[in-house]
Amino acid sequence: MNASVPLLKTENFWQGQWQGAPTRFAVTNPATGEQLAEVADATPEQAGLAVQAALDAFASWSATAADERAALLQRWQQLLLAHQGELALLLTLEQGKPLAEAKGEIAYGASYLQWFAEEARRVYGDTIPAASTDKRILVLKQPVGVVTAITPWNFPNAMIVRKAAAALATGCTFVVKPAQQTPLSALALAELALQAGIPAGVFNVLASSDAKGIGEVFTQDPRVAKFSFTGSTAVGKTLLAQCAQGVKRVSMELGGNAPFIVFDDADLDAAVQGLLASKFRNAGQTCVCTNRVYVQASVAEAFSKKVQQAVARLRLGNGCDHGVDLGPLIDEAACRKVEALVQDALASGANLICGGQRQSPDSLFYQPTVLSKVDDRMAVAKQEIFGPVLALQSFDTEAEVLGKANATDYGLAAYFYSRDIGRIFRVAEGLQFGMVGVNEGIISNAAAPFGGVKQSGYGREGSKYGLDDYLDIKYLCLGGL
Ligand code: ADP
Repeated sequence: MNASVPLLKTENFWQGQWQGAPTRFAVTNPATGEQLAEVADATPEQAGLAVQAALDAFASWSATAADERAALLQRWQQLLLAHQGELALLLTLEQGKPLAEAKGEIAYGASYLQWFAEEARRVYGDTIPAASTDKRILVLKQPVGVVTAITPWNFPNAMIVRKAAAALATGCTFVVKPAQQTPLSALALAELALQAGIPAGVFNVLASSDAKGIGEVFTQDPRVAKFSFTGSTAVGKTLLAQCAQGVKRVSMELGGNAPFIVFDDADLDAAVQGLLASKFRNAGQTCVCTNRVYVQASVAEAFSKKVQQAVARLRLGNGCDHGVDLGPLIDEAACRKVEALVQDALASGANLICGGQRQSPDSLFYQPTVLSKVDDRMAVAKQEIFGPVLALQSFDTEAEVLGKANATDYGLAAYFYSRDIGRIFRVAEGLQFGMVGVNEGIISNAAAPFGGVKQSGYGREGSKYGLDDYLDIKYLCLGGL
């Protein structure tokens, strides 16, 4: 890959400039193993420089009119859409997802820029009736300051934009470290921010192979006001502990273990469609992907047949090829994890309905797989699978399945299908998850609050609530009036 992709950038970006590094690291295409680029490998010292650039920019950026920030975010959004094809290609090359999904991700990311450009104008304060007549109580909302962020490889564009759009809309400045596997999408975003006229130091990107070193600066540098993370619960806990030292504001979007429940009154065809969308999107590598499928016993066999037929139609292949539904997994470690989960399930009594292995032993293409007779003691039901493995089990009663669905430390997304209005409310209210899809397998949207409860984290991205993660509340007491 070379100059034929103008948005291919291989230096880091802070203070409005492309910045080199003492060493570089390789980015490879998971579909082919081909090396795509060598990217400047930012050091922790450079992370400190980027934080300083963000701090320097904060005074003027936070003082700009909301309208001006909104206009810049909108210009950035338009550039994302104008370059949608090119950004999607870069994304597929480094991440593997089918091009159509990658294009969808660019549009999805851009939608947050539009949403928060509009929301930037609505950072309302309050006046509160005071207890005595010589006083007035006012509440202001102010940007927290410099925000640092660490993002994962599964949505190399949207996970960054979703955070940056909210942060920049409020007047915060932003420094992000993308995942080592997918820095090219992040650096392309920086190029478009530059073209959009986002001022120097407001949006900064540091690609690095030293996640731990950069993470320490991001979570412990006193110049940083807030840290926002999307990734695994295990890493999130470490970073939270690091943030505790300086009592930093944090947002944590961590792992999930989404249940998908099919009641016997459901529209089974719609449920199959919703399940496939929620399970196999990004080859199962999203934190809201279905992890456990519970089907009411009386429809379990019929449902399993329909699932099998639908899965047989899925095409696994290079995301750049036309008509492909699933690309490769991100790396060898991801493939090994999925293999181990499937082997453990089969050894513990699950049935293999289809799939169950890689397409060829030396590739990262794992076949879409269906297991039945899974139970909740198996690792495949307890851990986040992060792969194209659909694990079916059956249940008898509503109370039983609600108990099973909630019996997890995670609380990100849950899904269920039913046409009974009473049941819909009972189950939706009883599920201990931050997001619930009711007769719907795809729930993400810029207008809706994305986030979890329990060990899936806290904070919300998108929606009218999303700005609050980047705002401090200040109470003014006016006396002597
Ligand atoms: P995933 O399983 O999606 O790779 P991780 O939580 O391992 O989830 O990675 C998400 C992000 O966290 C990536 O950008 C990765 O580089 C970063 N990361 C991983 N370990 C650490 C760490 N110890 N400190 C800071 N960041 C980390």
